[in-house]
Amino acid sequence: MWPTGIKCTVAFTFDLDAESVWISGNPTNADKPGVLSQGRYAIRVAVPLILELLERNEIPSTFFIIGKVAEEHPETVRAIADRGHELAAHGYTHTPPTDQTPEEEEESIVRTLSILNGYGSKVVGYRSPSWEFSRHTLELLEKHQFAYSSNMMDDIRPYLHPGTSIVELPIHWLLDDAPHFWFAKDTWNKKISAISEVREIWGAEFEGIYELGGLFILTMHPQIIGRPSRLKMLEEFMTSMRSYTGVWFATCADIAEQVKEHLS
Ligand SMILES: [Zn+2]
Repeated sequence: MWPTGIKCTVAFTFDLDAESVWISGNPTNADKPGVLSQGRYAIRVAVPLILELLERNEIPSTFFIIGKVAEEHPETVRAIADRGHELAAHGYTHTPPTDQTPEEEEESIVRTLSILNGYGSKVVGYRSPSWEFSRHTLELLEKHQFAYSSNMMDDIRPYLHPGTSIVELPIHWLLDDAPHFWFAKDTWNKKISAISEVREIWGAEFEGIYELGGLFILTMHPQIIGRPSRLKMLEEFMTSMRSYTGVWFATCADIAEQVKEHLS
């Protein structure tokens, strides 16, 4: 499945939700600048730091972007694209497709595609908001000629969705920064994890997936992973991964293209 000499493949992915995740979760937040500032941090501070970090470590990455965020912050999307990273679709707003009609879901996908395709490369990847994949999502991805989905938690290797040409690049909450670091006032009882704990969890899972020759996808959000202490941890983790032989760091689009001919 992997290129010659490669044992395990790694993708660093970033979901650029910015303010949208706060508004979709609770529309009254649209009138709360303090709440929204948590999302704005992604645009002002986190993405620039992440782009520098990726460049320093020569790692290509995939950014799943909310269409409305791209409309509101085109200079951020341009900066990501100009550094050679992949732009992929993540819904027009952060409304879960499972809360939408099929028509609304399609409109959200089509609108996001038309915005992101404007940056020069054809968008081929989709990750639904909050990984809420609806019963219609797969056929919509086929209809709009996506190459891959990155939404399912049922494997550690890519697979083809039966009866379609859509490659699945599986993810898991374990390898998402939000369950470990997300904090919101409505969950005061949820403790923010120490970076040492998250590093331990991610490192152990990487070793396991490496031994099995699988696909390690880290799902991160600039507003969450982009705190200085967490970025230091991420960079140390990248360096550690490089000490393993046969690790391929790739964008999701390149991974989907690589594995497609091996899947049926
Ligand atoms: Zn998201």
